[in-house]
Amino acid sequence: MNVHPRLNLMLIGPPGCGKGTQSVNLSRRYNLLHFSTGNALREQIKLGTPLGLRVEEFLSKGLLVPDDVMIDLVRNTVEGLPPGQGLLLDGFPRTIPQATALEDILPLSGVIAMEIEDEVLVERITGRRIAEDGATYHIKFAPPPDGVMVTQRPDDTEAVVRERLRVYHNQTAPLVDFYRERKLLHTVSADGAIEEVENSITAAVDQLVATA
Ligand code: AMP
Repeated sequence: MNVHPRLNLMLIGPPGCGKGTQSVNLSRRYNLLHFSTGNALREQIKLGTPLGLRVEEFLSKGLLVPDDVMIDLVRNTVEGLPPGQGLLLDGFPRTIPQATALEDILPLSGVIAMEIEDEVLVERITGRRIAEDGATYHIKFAPPPDGVMVTQRPDDTEAVVRERLRVYHNQTAPLVDFYRERKLLHTVSADGAIEEVENSITAAVDQLVATA
């Protein structure tokens, strides 16, 4: 396995573009710690912690959790990392204030922007189902095997998905320019087979590792 101790990456893209799936592959390939803020928040909600109770309503409505809460969460996570451990951020930052705060917390080596049309995403997300072990299926494109119990994330319904896309375009998409200006941005198409998208992303990451 390639080890790049100081590689800190961030994946940015609309909900359902495949960030989660690609993050798992990427973090394995480059020995990075995969930190999904969405997963971290859902875990807090499941455990019923004070943080979980505070953020539950934002997630169920498809709205962003306030910046100060998210920045604290990421700062605490980064501070707890073993020295030299590279990080793959999935779902953070999602606003300009979060991106600005991150500059004082962690230097990013690169940002991979995953591009895809909204209507493709609506079909992908509303059909998405999650198994007990965290595996993701799709009722049309990748149905769960017989006997595997699956559930739908409460924010994967069409109304909430449309709201999440609206929030993405208003609040998160401006980060693409933010990172382009800082010469950290690499754009890939997310409208393809998982392996195809993975190849585009690893080509971009290999290039940024080679030029680092
Ligand atoms: P995700 O699993 O990345 O789609 O995140 C699910 C939900 O968690 C989002 O719709 C937000 O409500 C919340 N969330 C995750 N990351 C952030 C963030 N960086 N800023 C604000 N809210 C977030």
